[in-house]
Amino acid sequence: MGFEDVLLTGLARDGGLYVPESWPQVSPQQIRALAGLPYGEAAARIIEPFLGGALEAGELRALLNDAYAGFDHLAVAPLKQLDSHIWLMELFHGPTLAFKDFALQVVGRLFDRVLAKRKRRVTIVGATSGDTGSAAIEACRGRERVEIFILHPQGRVSEVQRRQMTTVMDKNVHNIAIQGSFDDCQDLVKAMFNDTGFRDEMDLSAVNSINWARIMVQIAYYFVAAAALGAPDRKIAFAVPSGNFGNVFAGYAAARMGLPLAKLIIGSNRNDILTRFFDTGLMTMAEVQPTHSPSMDIQVSSNFERLLFELYGRDGAAVAKAMTGFRETGALEPGAQRWRKAREDFEAVRLDEAQTLAEIARLYRETGELIDPHSAIGIAAARLKGVSDVPTIALGTAHATKFPDAVEKATGQRPALPSRLGDLMEREERCAVLPNNLAQIQDFVRRHIRRNVPENETV
Ligand SMILES: *Cc1c(COP(=O)(O)O)cnc(C)c1O
Repeated sequence: MGFEDVLLTGLARDGGLYVPESWPQVSPQQIRALAGLPYGEAAARIIEPFLGGALEAGELRALLNDAYAGFDHLAVAPLKQLDSHIWLMELFHGPTLAFKDFALQVVGRLFDRVLAKRKRRVTIVGATSGDTGSAAIEACRGRERVEIFILHPQGRVSEVQRRQMTTVMDKNVHNIAIQGSFDDCQDLVKAMFNDTGFRDEMDLSAVNSINWARIMVQIAYYFVAAAALGAPDRKIAFAVPSGNFGNVFAGYAAARMGLPLAKLIIGSNRNDILTRFFDTGLMTMAEVQPTHSPSMDIQVSSNFERLLFELYGRDGAAVAKAMTGFRETGALEPGAQRWRKAREDFEAVRLDEAQTLAEIARLYRETGELIDPHSAIGIAAARLKGVSDVPTIALGTAHATKFPDAVEKATGQRPALPSRLGDLMEREERCAVLPNNLAQIQDFVRRHIRRNVPENETV
């Protein structure tokens, strides 16, 4: 399967996830040469081997430069030293203030490119509990060949998160507040995909976190940050606040491509399925509990299947069997040998709610920085599991502004919106409110995609 089809389909027809046939190798000399390059150029060098010629070298560079031009820091992913051996990589300078912009700003543009070439259109539908929806909307707004419908649970996302979605006025953007929970929203999206007649009629597509292109784009910042701190001539560790295992899997991919890493440290909140796996070798489902770091409140880390594929020696059939067993029994145990292999690359640590707030307070006291709860879990993981002679880079996945309540609770300070978002709270909103009813949602989608809207009718 070529890159373009992988991009547009997301999930493989057999229900599995796409991974590259082999990992392209980056030589020590090529890694050294990344230090000091503009971000777009460095990212292009890492991403190019995955594209199989789908874009010309020049096109790719132009696309990446355009995607990152909207970030409000010239370094795009700046590193800030926090203490003698811990750095924070700030991945929150994109338009929606979370790291998901890194991949989605690129993926939106890739969609445009490939759809124009194929003279096709798609309708993206997705459910969000907060961050992903706004990042996907920002990535798709105004795109000629894309309609995007995002479902969120009415009254259950923060006001900043809601406004980041509903104040986008482009005609191809459609927000729907569902009278129900996030799970209801997800079930509605799944049901739309499972209705094959509707799926084909609407050319449904998804940009959720299992889309390979998102992982691919995220690999770049691991190389860029490590090279800036002296890789490949010294080993670097990363600490990654994790939920769906997409971000940290990109780090694992970087290691497979030749980046010398000391280890990848996973930070979990009390939804700690990943930490329990790395501690015990057994993966078991549990109820999702709400936390101060909601973007990591997940029950099953969907990208973990990609790691299993490597642990099972790239035997797709064995992984499919293990995953089926997991869905049926709620437990998965790959065996002692594979678990040991996983622990060569990963360590994990869990923070409860009090520890998360304490870390935010400590960082404010010691550095004067207001840090969001997700990033704080990454920094704490670096501190708890890092070693002093190895530079450890914690990934800052969201701006403190996105989670003001937790930050205020921990520090007494309420982080202000960055100036370019200053009028977010006054902007006009547009959002439909619909009941938790599949037929009504499908009818809404049908009536609102632009090719079905008569020229002279406004929506
Ligand atoms: C999505 C998200 C995460 C979790 O990333 P995964 O790739 O799902 O592991 C962490 N922090 C923030 C702020 C996020 O939005």
